[in-house]
Amino acid sequence: MDEKENRYALAFKQIARIINSPLPVKKMVSGVCASATRGLQAAGCTVMLLNPQKEYLDIIGAYGLSDMYLRKGPINARKSYGDILEGATVAVDDVQLDKRTQYPEQAVKENLKSLLGAPIRQKGEVIGEVRLYTRVKRRFKPHEKDFLVTVANILAVTLEKIELNQYLNKQHESNISQQKKLTSFSDLPMRPIRPMNFGHPSEEEFARLLDFYQVEWLYEPRSFPLSTDNGRITEMFTPDFYLPEINLFLELTTARQSLITEKNHKVRKLKELYPDINIRLLNKSDYLKLFAKYGFITPGENKMTGIGRLLLSKTQIQRRVKLLAKQISRDYQGRELIMVGILKGVLCFMSDLMLNMSIPVVIDFMAISTLDQQVDSAVQILKDLDTEIGNKHVLMVEDIVDTGMTLNYVLNYLSARNPASLKVCTLLDKRVRRLIDVHIDYVGFEVPDEFVVGYGLDVAGKYRNLPDIGILE
Ligand code: 5GP
Repeated sequence: MDEKENRYALAFKQIARIINSPLPVKKMVSGVCASATRGLQAAGCTVMLLNPQKEYLDIIGAYGLSDMYLRKGPINARKSYGDILEGATVAVDDVQLDKRTQYPEQAVKENLKSLLGAPIRQKGEVIGEVRLYTRVKRRFKPHEKDFLVTVANILAVTLEKIELNQYLNKQHESNISQQKKLTSFSDLPMRPIRPMNFGHPSEEEFARLLDFYQVEWLYEPRSFPLSTDNGRITEMFTPDFYLPEINLFLELTTARQSLITEKNHKVRKLKELYPDINIRLLNKSDYLKLFAKYGFITPGENKMTGIGRLLLSKTQIQRRVKLLAKQISRDYQGRELIMVGILKGVLCFMSDLMLNMSIPVVIDFMAISTLDQQVDSAVQILKDLDTEIGNKHVLMVEDIVDTGMTLNYVLNYLSARNPASLKVCTLLDKRVRRLIDVHIDYVGFEVPDEFVVGYGLDVAGKYRNLPDIGILE
């Protein structure tokens, strides 16, 4: 056996051992990257998977490359060597000059010269890719391409095995905890999440929430240097999530005050240094409220237990609803209006609103699944409209707009049916918590960042029949 064959045999021996070990996903994939790098005497390697929308690539394992390079920013599946995802094995002589390099400056900083990329295919479909980098210029030979294609095939089978294991583990856990109350999203027996290495369980829960609403997310795609000393980075910040559709970075924080202060400081500094970057800090109470919304907290014992404070009295609500009805009636005078509500929270508001309208209206309802119903791992229409809305004037009526994810989903769904116009009316607007900035035409009340119940709004099915709106303790 010559030296090259020996190296290849050793690399495959190591890869076989790694993929058959109980290592966590990131370690396993990074281990394969290390063996592949040594096998081809390269400088580094990355393994990336397409996100569900197939627009971006998530790095799920790497070797030999700096953190700063790996977190250089979102990797666009089409802009960055899109031909690999079309199924080609691509060899690049000079990545610094090649037009398909999405971040050429970072390639220069990392001193990368040549690249070899191969698609990872599962059942004929490309799901991601493996890339190998060198720090000296190199023309890859056919046997080297064969080597990387084989590594890509091994990775495809390994990832399938990991996904199957994750799924079986979740099924097993949910069988054990069937009688237990669900306390978090990750208790739900759902489809496995993408093979990310989340730093904290709350991040995984948050990713599930985003998946559910089909909001595209990338986990830690970019690091921002915050301080340097003689050109050396001394402080860096990597926000947890990036939502490419709305160009927003999100950092989640846990309850520890010291951490919150530190993160607040970093977020402030990042805003100063990178004024074009949109970033939000989401603290523990914020996402606990998101979870509470799906009933993952224990409600009180009777109708009023658990209500800490009255926010809007029955009289205040009724007065405002009358005004809204008057304004909407005026705006739609002479036109045929269909009011569409999302069940069930909108029940009281919809009924009071239409009773106070002075023009004829048609009403219809939709029901969409919530995470706790766990119909699937993405939001689903459980009850569709009975009315045809093409070329009609539609007013979406909502109880409360919080992050904006529900409204955004429903508006996309409705606008695909080509209504003549589509406007939005919400009784409550929790504007401070907005993640997706949807336009709202009529707002009853702007409410603070508190979890509210009553007048149709519930927690775990309770409190809907309160005539006022209160804040949970
Ligand atoms: P979004 O998708 O905007 O985050 O949330 C919208 C939905 O979440 C609302 O239709 C409502 O069902 C629920 N929601 C949001 N905030 C609250 C709240 O404070 N109290 C209750 N009971 N539900 C809320």
